[in-house]
Amino acid sequence: MPLIKEKTKMKEQDPKKRIKNFHEVALGYSLEDALKEASRCLQCKDSPCVRGCPVNIEIPAFIKLIKEGKFDDAIKKIKEKNNLPAICGRVCPQENQCEKFCVMGKKFEPVGIGRLERFAADWEIKKGIKNPKKTKSTGKKVAVVGSGPAGLTCAGDLVKLGHEVTIFESLHKPGGVLVYGIPEYRLPKKIVEIEIDYIKKLGAEIKTDFVIGKILSVEELLEEYDAVFIGTGAGLPRFLGIPGENLNGVYSANEFLTRVNLMKAYLFPEYDTPVKKGKRVAVIGAGNVAMDSARTALRLGAEKVYIVYRRSEKEMPARNEEIEHAKEEGIEFMLLTTPTEIIGDENNWVKQMKCIKMKLGEPDESGRRRPIPIEGSEFPVDVDIVVIAIGQSPNPLVPEATKGLKIAKHGNIITDENGRTSLERVWAGGDIATGAATVIAAMGAGKKAAADIHKFLSE
Ligand code: FAD
Ligand code: SF4
Ligand code: SF4
Repeated sequence: MPLIKEKTKMKEQDPKKRIKNFHEVALGYSLEDALKEASRCLQCKDSPCVRGCPVNIEIPAFIKLIKEGKFDDAIKKIKEKNNLPAICGRVCPQENQCEKFCVMGKKFEPVGIGRLERFAADWEIKKGIKNPKKTKSTGKKVAVVGSGPAGLTCAGDLVKLGHEVTIFESLHKPGGVLVYGIPEYRLPKKIVEIEIDYIKKLGAEIKTDFVIGKILSVEELLEEYDAVFIGTGAGLPRFLGIPGENLNGVYSANEFLTRVNLMKAYLFPEYDTPVKKGKRVAVIGAGNVAMDSARTALRLGAEKVYIVYRRSEKEMPARNEEIEHAKEEGIEFMLLTTPTEIIGDENNWVKQMKCIKMKLGEPDESGRRRPIPIEGSEFPVDVDIVVIAIGQSPNPLVPEATKGLKIAKHGNIITDENGRTSLERVWAGGDIATGAATVIAAMGAGKKAAADIHKFLSE
């Protein structure tokens, strides 16, 4: 077979249609697509792609199984390392991870590893996931705080090793950012539910509406459990600190997305959480969270949605794919622009934003060129919703409520490379330790900590 240079395309919903619904944008590979894409893999002996995957999935092995039509075995191979493959196959920034190291990518397009992983996972879901076998109990008990990808992975690996695991989650649904942050049109909640159900069937118990640091402290957990893993994430929104940020109609991206994703605000009054559906929406920031907020606002019925970013397109932190999707859907990019004030009407609802044009100076400590305001370039923009998406910090509750836990300057819990914290029998990982990162990085941290907790419990 001749070498196929390009990655097999994945079908997508048409932009004109998809901006009117919350259904998934990317539709996945058909069987023919998957077989074609699997045939592009060179089966490299030293498999550099595996080194790019934070959970080290045996990529050439699972792709070979897909190529041979052994889909059952392919998903089994993936699940040896990854309990959440349908999620990762959808949201992993593969271009910076496994696919970045793919040998095919040196001359042509890399193999679509994430798309193939999604194909295998979706194939198993369609067929019906078999209940996993439960491992005989070791009698050791572990408490996991937070049910995001870090907590779920740590819990999944520990129950597979026979330990009894209870996950404590403050919200009413488990999944962390997977359920409250990443929108339905990128990651259907049904998929998240199915993969969480798998972790439960492995034997993990999940207690929701249970805030650690309020209902029970980490010290109290240590009285009942042999070890504690903290995976409480980075959900504390940052704000601009400009006048008018407390007006009605100004949301942090976190609140805006949580209302829509988790509380189904777009179905109000059927669901009881409302959200203001703006006609002109400004989203401040240009990372993935900003793109998610902008595209969500569009689906809620906005006529104009702006991404307002103080640097240029080159510096935008969002994935290229997200930026392309946003552009296809008609989001307008106001680059080299920053708001200086938000102005309200007589009822304190947002009506306008004052902005100023910026130019780029020398690189700052982040390595990106520093934006400098251009004097006299102020201009108004009429808006009725402003969403602030300029980053999140670690959730402070558990670090602040836990005596003796060492914390870095920005509120992150300090750990060693295995996730051990300054406290005996307490591990941490994911965004709470690294600051806002990725699903698979959080999973990698959960996995490392689980291995180390197991070692400790086996001593
Ligand atoms: P989280 O997912 O934040 O989970 C932490 C959990 O702990 C939450 O459920 C929280 O409710 C719970 N918790 C907090 N405090 C307590 C407490 N005191 N007691 C009990 N429970 C508590 N990454 C990607 O790889 N791809 C993407 O496409 C992507 N898109 C994103 C889109 C958005 C809108 C956001 C916000 C992030 C996105 N990310 C993406 C980043 C990624 O989701 C995070 O890096 C990842 O979820 C971190 O996992 P975690 O388990 O550390 O924390
Ligand atoms: Fe690549 Fe993510 Fe799958 Fe790992 S989990 S192989 S990084 S897509
Ligand atoms: Fe296949 Fe690329 Fe991995 Fe080589 S580097 S084994 S081509 S996926």
